[in-house]
Amino acid sequence: MSQSRSGGSDGTLIQAVSCLEGYDPDALRVDKAREAIRACLHPVAEIERVPVREALGRVLAEEIVPSLNVPGHDNSAMDGYALRGADLSASQAVSLTLAGTAFAGKPHSGRVGPGQCIRVMTGAVMPEGADTVVVQEVCRAEGNAVTVPAGQKAGQNVRFAGEDLKAGVPVLAPGQPLRAAELGLIASLGIGEVSVRRRLRVAFFSTGDELASIGKPLAPGEVYDSNRYTLHGLLAGLGVEILDLGVVRDDPALLEAAFRKAAASADAVLTTGGVSVGEADFIKQLMAQLGEVLFWKIAMRPGRPMAFGRIGSGRDAAFLFGLPGNPVAVMVTFTQFVRDALLVLSGRTSGLDLPLLRAASASAIRKVPGRTEYQRGVVYRDGTDWKVRTTGQQGSGVLRSMSEANCFIVLEHERGNVAAGEPVQVQLFEGLL
Ligand code: AMP
Ligand code: MG
Repeated sequence: MSQSRSGGSDGTLIQAVSCLEGYDPDALRVDKAREAIRACLHPVAEIERVPVREALGRVLAEEIVPSLNVPGHDNSAMDGYALRGADLSASQAVSLTLAGTAFAGKPHSGRVGPGQCIRVMTGAVMPEGADTVVVQEVCRAEGNAVTVPAGQKAGQNVRFAGEDLKAGVPVLAPGQPLRAAELGLIASLGIGEVSVRRRLRVAFFSTGDELASIGKPLAPGEVYDSNRYTLHGLLAGLGVEILDLGVVRDDPALLEAAFRKAAASADAVLTTGGVSVGEADFIKQLMAQLGEVLFWKIAMRPGRPMAFGRIGSGRDAAFLFGLPGNPVAVMVTFTQFVRDALLVLSGRTSGLDLPLLRAASASAIRKVPGRTEYQRGVVYRDGTDWKVRTTGQQGSGVLRSMSEANCFIVLEHERGNVAAGEPVQVQLFEGLL
């Protein structure tokens, strides 16, 4: 087991990103920013063994190769009669002799001869000699005589050994997120424990002299800190360990202590506020002193300023995501850059990009080319079509716009104004935010 914390120390970040074509820190395209971040990330190295149930939401760190077939035997897909396909007729009903019964878990021991059939339940092992199941509803049974109608197909209603999982054929690869289906799949192989990556530790704090914590009355000019609550909600869906380090005043000594504590205890540190142009420069200076931090102006709205880098060193190193302070900008930059970065750091190799779907814009939207916009939208059904409308006021401080929305309307970098009825890309929130 490796002792290393997340992140490699090979080369500097600026070396890694400056070779990317079109890298311009002062007018960085969204796709370039994402690419730049990805170029710098190394997943957590530590691996642990956990019981299958506890693996839910974790990232698989081994290949799963079945040692057995699932199902283990050919079996019936229906309640009915197992028989030999050769006995069926396309043009007339046939009468077969009932020779026994097979239940799931209680096979029939004998062989099915010509002209015979066996009553079978769903999941029952196919009796030897039989290759076809006819559902009970279409058959007529009188004593030991079973009449099977014309036109039944040989081979139908049989599930074959190994048709779900085949012994020796790898089924899950390292990097696979373990969801409900994977837990069941692993259990179907009789495996009780799996190797998973250590859970990523993510620390965050809010910065700003104007921020008050819940429980205190607001002084003039103060606002309650909401960012830590949205971040908590966003992070909770990612299966990471969350360390909430509270609100930190815009004070160099307090901020430095917070950064050091965060870097020492976490693999990734998220801050909000303090990276925009109007901010006291010392936050940026401080970030830069604590490691290697890149300051970007991203060609996007909302969420233009952002810092990305690595702070601390050795075992106390952590990736830093310095997000803007505005509550909507926090959610947008998180979903567009931080979410997938944290998944990569967690060891995930698939499902990193959020799907983009298309819907017709219900109304015209103003948009200038040269930046990617993330308008808050509501996808709704209009007859047989799916349409999308904006939630109205789009200010980056209007968190209500996120609450009312069920998607981002993603207006691409080059795109200009959108006419009513034009298709636009939407990124659905459901299950993500
Ligand atoms: P900043 O990026 O620090 O200049 O902050 C931009 C705007 O976001 C300001 O109006 C802040 O008051 C607001 N803001 C910053 N942090 C938070 C927070 N944690 N909760 C709510 N609003 C915030
Ligand atoms: Mg601030």
